[in-house]
Amino acid sequence: MKFKIHRGTQEIGGSCVELWTDTTKIVVDIGMPLIASDGEEFNFKQYENLTTLDLVQKGVLPDINGLYENSTSKVDGILISHYHQDHHGFLSFADNSIPIFTGEATQSILQFSEIFFNRKKSDKQFHNFTKDSSFSIGDFKIKPYWMDHSAFDAYAFLVEANGKQLFYTGDFRGHGRKDKVFKWFLRNTPQNVDYLLMEGTTIGRGKQTFPSEKDLEEDFIEVFKSKQEINFITTSAQNIDLLVTIYRACKRSNKLLVVDVYAAAIMKEMAKYATIPYPSISFPEIKVMYPYFLSKMIADKIGKEFLYQFKSFKITKEEISKKRKEIVFLIRPSMKMDIDHIDNMENGNFIYSMWSGYLEQPKTKAFVDYLKSKGFSFHQIHTSGHANVETLKEIVHAIQPKNLVLIHTFDGDHYKEIFKDVKVTQLRDKEEIKIQ
Ligand SMILES: [Zn+2]
Ligand SMILES: [Zn+2]
Repeated sequence: MKFKIHRGTQEIGGSCVELWTDTTKIVVDIGMPLIASDGEEFNFKQYENLTTLDLVQKGVLPDINGLYENSTSKVDGILISHYHQDHHGFLSFADNSIPIFTGEATQSILQFSEIFFNRKKSDKQFHNFTKDSSFSIGDFKIKPYWMDHSAFDAYAFLVEANGKQLFYTGDFRGHGRKDKVFKWFLRNTPQNVDYLLMEGTTIGRGKQTFPSEKDLEEDFIEVFKSKQEINFITTSAQNIDLLVTIYRACKRSNKLLVVDVYAAAIMKEMAKYATIPYPSISFPEIKVMYPYFLSKMIADKIGKEFLYQFKSFKITKEEISKKRKEIVFLIRPSMKMDIDHIDNMENGNFIYSMWSGYLEQPKTKAFVDYLKSKGFSFHQIHTSGHANVETLKEIVHAIQPKNLVLIHTFDGDHYKEIFKDVKVTQLRDKEEIKIQ
C-alpha cells in the first residue's frame, strides 16, 4: 500500500489523502483549504471561473489521476470523514461516477447544503457506512470509527491493504457531547497500525484544556440571567452539539429559543438520526423566524412548501419585540436588516459561539460593532471541536503506531517533543510513502 497526503502536513484545511495499491485507488477527504498560499483566508471566488485542469495546475485542486472527469482510469472510491468544508469542499469537482462513502447524516447535510447554497442537486453516487462495520473497495478493507467532534456524524477510518494498516483520525475531540463515544474508542483502538495520520489542530496550545458542553450550558445560563433583555447568539447551525447545549440552557432558564428557517431545517433533518430538539409539537419552546432575503431565496429556488413546513411554529417580528425578555435568538450577520426592523432590539446580550478567528472577518466584525453600538454586552462562549494535547497523547498511547504522522496542524514541528515514545515521521505535502 502507498499513500500521499496532498494537503494538511503544514496546515489546517484542505484535507486530502490518496491511497493506492497496484489495482485500487481511494481518496480520503477532499477538503477546501482555509488558508491561501499567501497566508490570507482562502476565497474560492477568486478561482470560480477556472477549469478543473487549471485548478489542478495552480495547485488549488489536488493532483490525483482518475479523480476528475475525462480521465481514463477512475478512482475507486472517496471516503468523507465528516461534513466540514475543509474535508469535503472540493467534492463537487470529483467525477460523478466515483462512489462516495459517508455516514448517512453526513450525506444528508452535504445534499442539504448543496440545495441551499448551490440551489441544485448533483448526481453523486452515495453509499452509507455504519459505525464499526467494515466494507471493501477493491483491495482496501475499511473500518469506520464513530468519533466525538463538533460536526455530528464524524468518523475515523482504519484502512487495510496488502497486510498493512493505516489509521486516519479525521477531526475529533474527547470533551464533547459524545465523550462516551471517545472513551469507548480509547478502549477499542486498532492495534498493529503501521501509520497513524492524526489531526493536531491544537498542538500549539500546550497544556490548555477546553470546557465541556456541560460547562458551556452553565455559562449560557449565567449570561441569560445577567439581563432582562433579548439574548442574541451567533453560531454555526451545523454545530449540533452546541445547538443542543443552547436548547438545554434555554429550557432551564424558561426561555424561548428562536431559530431561523435554515437552522430549523437542519435541526429537523438531524432529528432523524438522534434525539435532537427541533421546531415541532414535541418542542413548543422552539420558534421559527423567517429572515427576508433567506425566505425569498427559498421561495424562489426551493419552493414555498419548504417554508410552510414550520408555519405552525412561526414567530413574527412583533412577537419577538413583545416577548424579548424571554427570548434567545440565533442570529447571523446576514440578518442585520431583519433585526433593524424589530422594535426594542437593544441593550441585550450578544453571545459569540464560534471560533474566535472568524471575528476578524470584516462582515462579522462590522456586525459585532453594530450590536455594541446598540448597547449589547459582548460575550464569548465556545469550546474547541478538536482534542487537546493530553487527549492526543492518550490516542497515541492506546494505538502505539509504528509511525505517527501529523496532519491538520500548523504546528507540526512540536510533535517530536510531545510524543516521545513513538516514531514521529514528519512528511511533506505530496510526498509518496510506501508502507513496507
Ligand atoms: Zn471538522
Ligand atoms: Zn477539519
